[in-house]
Amino acid sequence: MSEPVLVVGAGPVGLAVAGELARRDVPVRVVDALAAPTTESRAIVVHARSLEMLERVGVLDDIVASGIKATGVEMHASGRTLARVELDIVDSPHPYSVLTAQTETERILAGNLAKHGVEVERGVSLVGLEQDADGVRATLRASDGREETVAASWLVGADGAHSAVRRQVGTALEGSFHGERFLMGDVHAEHDFDPRSMYTFFSAHDGPLMVFPMKGDRMRLIAQIPTASTDEASQEWLQRITDERAAGRIRIHDSLWLTCFEIRHAQVPQYRFGRVFLAGDAAHIHSPAGGQGMNTGLQDAFNLGWKLAAGYRGTASETLLDSYHAERHPVAARVIEFSTRLTHLSTLANPVAQHLRNALLHTATGLGPTRHALAEETEETTVAYHDSPAVVGSAVRPKVRGGDHLPDVPGTELRSVLSAETGHVLVTLGALPAVAELPGVRQVLLADTGAPVDGFDAVVADPDGRAAARLGLSRGRVLVRPDGYVGALAEGEDDRPVRAYWELTTPAR
Ligand SMILES: Cc1cc2nc3c(=O)[nH]c(=O)nc-3n(C[C@H](O)[C@H](O)[C@H](O)COP(=O)(O)OP(=O)(O)OC[C@H]3O[C@@H](n4cnc5c(N)ncnc54)[C@H](O)[C@@H]3O)c2cc1C
Repeated sequence: MSEPVLVVGAGPVGLAVAGELARRDVPVRVVDALAAPTTESRAIVVHARSLEMLERVGVLDDIVASGIKATGVEMHASGRTLARVELDIVDSPHPYSVLTAQTETERILAGNLAKHGVEVERGVSLVGLEQDADGVRATLRASDGREETVAASWLVGADGAHSAVRRQVGTALEGSFHGERFLMGDVHAEHDFDPRSMYTFFSAHDGPLMVFPMKGDRMRLIAQIPTASTDEASQEWLQRITDERAAGRIRIHDSLWLTCFEIRHAQVPQYRFGRVFLAGDAAHIHSPAGGQGMNTGLQDAFNLGWKLAAGYRGTASETLLDSYHAERHPVAARVIEFSTRLTHLSTLANPVAQHLRNALLHTATGLGPTRHALAEETEETTVAYHDSPAVVGSAVRPKVRGGDHLPDVPGTELRSVLSAETGHVLVTLGALPAVAELPGVRQVLLADTGAPVDGFDAVVADPDGRAAARLGLSRGRVLVRPDGYVGALAEGEDDRPVRAYWELTTPAR
């Protein structure tokens, strides 16, 4: 058996990637420099696409129970509502965001990891790293100063914005490191906001205030402050700003966490360095506008976990391992672009530009397509890997293409069948035989009745052809990857795309 996979960093991303490995029975060690989990609540929004992934892991109910569901976004200026966008228009079985403290998300992910028998080794920092074609040697330093060199088959650098792994592999974040400055507080407060929404208040003179109601009387408040400001974060300051920008609707009782931060946008040029992968903040950092930092990192973890499990077992081709960078790097680049645009839009200083923005937001969000686009972008439900080197069938016509996330088909058992799997699932639509020689792939037939059919592991009843209508495919095959994305799509009897995917993603025989 080869050496374990070493995950450096037990933030949300490290915990998620380790969980993905552990639930596939891959031996994994997780180390973190901190002696105890952080108490900083940081990311508080978990978006729809992340919720879909967390459902597959089996922790969705815990995440939902730890917070509240936000089903809308509202924008206000000069005492009036400019726009309200309902999130339930997004194409997801979970069309909402969960507002919960990052500490809760980490607690739940660490609990999931412990269920698989993996405990985080705390007070242990990575300080050195070497690799060759056969493995990685990492130097770890314990809090008492003792050092050990450990062998690992693969290593994941999920050690955050100041990543040591990133330094060790000789790369760096590239981008902009200075920008707008914000005062942020997690507080207990009295307010009259609908807790099912997230709010932005544009201010004519001072930049925006963002308001996120949380569980009980807790709230996250984020307010732009002057870039040159060196003042310490304080509750009085936050109350004063809130009074000015949200018309006295919030009375802060006490604060749990107060901080000032400056916006930075940057990304490493490469996510894979031989046997070392970078994920989460170690690979990309962005503005908290849109709340996509942690979400993008979590999705890195779900993209990488199953590929690395295959790498550990020797069943992944180089193309599959490289596809982590090919698929996830453009996603973070787009998040950086989106959150930069959103930040510029909310921090406009020129009164004419502000007036235009307000008028445009009011008119555009009244239009269905704009509302849809905004909600889908926010919830990350448009993320797809059409240009991936490890996807087949992205040019085929049906509603779902290779590289899309497989949509839910309400009224069928398909989602629960897929959720129970840690490997690939080949879904066949119409009267076609099972495909031979796909070791380890669970084959599911969508048919009129749920009666067993030779060659298939499960038959899901789709009596009125809902799945066919939803996928735009009455006869054909959809190969669903372990992360829920479509690896291959084949129309009619032609099973060559499925075989081509297999050839691409497994080592040459
Ligand atoms: C004020 C603030 C507000 C934010 N709000 C949001 C939001 O609303 N929504 C959102 O999506 N994102 C938000 N973010 C971003 C979000 O917190 C990060 O994107 C997220 O924490 C990234 O997770 P990670 O696991 O990659 O890194 P981290 O959470 O930073 O975890 C990295 C871990 O690695 C450990 N480590 C570091 N160096 C070493 C080493 N050498 N050896 C071993 N361990 C090491 C650290 O101790 C840490 O536990 C916010 C961030 C901040 C600062």
